Parts: sequence; C-alpha cells; structure tokens
Amino acid sequence: IVQVSDVTKAFGDNQVLRGVSMTVNKGEAVALIGPSGSGKSTLLRCINGLVAADGGKIEAAGHAVHALRTNEDRIALRKDVCMVFQQYNLFPHMTVLENIMLAPTQVLKQDAEEVRERANKLLEKVRLTGKEKAYPGHLSGGQQQRVAIARALAMRPSVMLFDEVTAALDPETVKEVLATIRELVEEGMTCILVTHEMRFAREVAHQVYFTDKGLIVEHGAPAEFFDSPKDARTREFLGHVL
Ligand code: ATP
Ligand code: MG
Repeated sequence: IVQVSDVTKAFGDNQVLRGVSMTVNKGEAVALIGPSGSGKSTLLRCINGLVAADGGKIEAAGHAVHALRTNEDRIALRKDVCMVFQQYNLFPHMTVLENIMLAPTQVLKQDAEEVRERANKLLEKVRLTGKEKAYPGHLSGGQQQRVAIARALAMRPSVMLFDEVTAALDPETVKEVLATIRELVEEGMTCILVTHEMRFAREVAHQVYFTDKGLIVEHGAPAEFFDSPKDARTREFLGHVL
C-alpha cells in the first residue's frame, strides 16, 4: 500500500535522504527508528507530500506521490494518508468536536451530521467521550494527542503516519496514546510509526526499519531485528537506546 523506491532529498547541500526504499503492506505497522537527524521525519513528510522528494518514486494508498501536480492531488493524498505530529497542532479556539469535524466538513465537504456521528464514535474509540465541548487548552497532552489522532481518523485514511507522537508527553500519558495506536494496529490500520519507544516497536510493529544518515541500514521482523541486528550501526544504536 506504500512503496518508497530509491528516494533522495537534499536541503541545500545537506543530503538528508540518500536512496531510501521501503515497502509497507496493507494492514502492516512499520516502526521507523534511527538517530536524530537521520531523515525519519523527512521521509514521512515525503510520503504525504509535505516535502517534495528530489528523486525516486513514492506510491501511497494508490497515489503517485512523486508525480503530484495540483492542489487537488495533494488534498486527495492527504485524505488517504494522514499524519500525526509530535506537536498536536489542534486549533486552540475550537472545541474538540469542532477540531475533529473541520477537515471532513470544510475540505471534503461531507455532510455535517454524518461527520458528527463519526466524530462521536472516534471520541469513544480514543476514550474521550464527554470532552466534545472542551477546548484543547483544558486537556492534558495525552488527551490532546488522542484528539489529534481522532481528527486524522475522521478523514477515514488508509494509511496513518505517526511522527514521535509521544515524545512531548509525560510518562503516564504516553501509555494511553500508545494504547490507542496499538488498538488501531490490531484493527488492521496500516501505519508507519517513527518512535523512540523500542518496547512498543517490538511488541506492535510487523516490521522495523532502521535509518542512519539518510539510508535504510537494516530492516526486518522485530524479534529478529532486536535480538540479532546484523549491521554494526544498528547494534551501536540499540546499545544506546535499549
Ligand atoms: P529527529 O529524530 O531529531 O526528529 P529525524 O530523523 O526526524 O530527526 P529530520 O527531521 O528528517 O530527521 O532531519 C534530517 C535533516 O534534515 C536534519 O539535518 C535537518 O536539519 C534537515 N532538515 C529537515 N527539514 C528541513 C528543512 N525544511 N529545511 C532544511 N533542513 C531541513
Ligand atoms: Mg523527526
């Protein structure tokens, strides 16, 4: 469902992606791990078209991302491939429900009643029933992040991209957000997760990809990847984080 082939990206003379390839099958969760600055966020941004790759090909949820031309192409891609960020970026002046309903009603022009019903179900799913009318500023970081996840799911995407969504949270709230993501994976949502939570990656992901300096150094099934990493750089990284 996501096929990244030999993707390159430079910012000025900083070569951030040096030929990255990745295959994510439908229903799979892929954990993307690697040192700071190795290009993980840039790769996710390339996949949903926020950043244009210099070379290579990206197919995601039926969209040829490398060949995006118009704004309509981009909107269609981001309906199917939704991203959740470390900073949840909720609109502070809108309630939880309004945040979730905004894009489906305003961008996709879907029927408000239908969207409201879906939004309420999503709030139940992320365990925030009762918070419909709350403003983001009155919620904990973990609650806000779950609203951000519900907002993305309201688009009914086929792929979800998570970029270190628990990195800014305190330890207690990390758990609730990871539990929400775990449920999504168990329900068969295709996900790419950039994460520093190695135990979570091991338990939840179907494949683990390790990047360093803009290259995929190694990838494999989690048990094999964590128990017998083949590359010296992978071993060094895991030595620091495990
Ligand atoms: P982290 O774990 O710290 O989030 P990362 O693996 O996600 O790191 P990226 O954010 O993809 O790394 O950044 C890779 C490199 O690209 C860094 O050197 C960064 O400074 C650079 N970079 C990223 N985005 C831009 C941009 N918009 N303009 C210029 N340089 C950028
Ligand atoms: Mg990053």
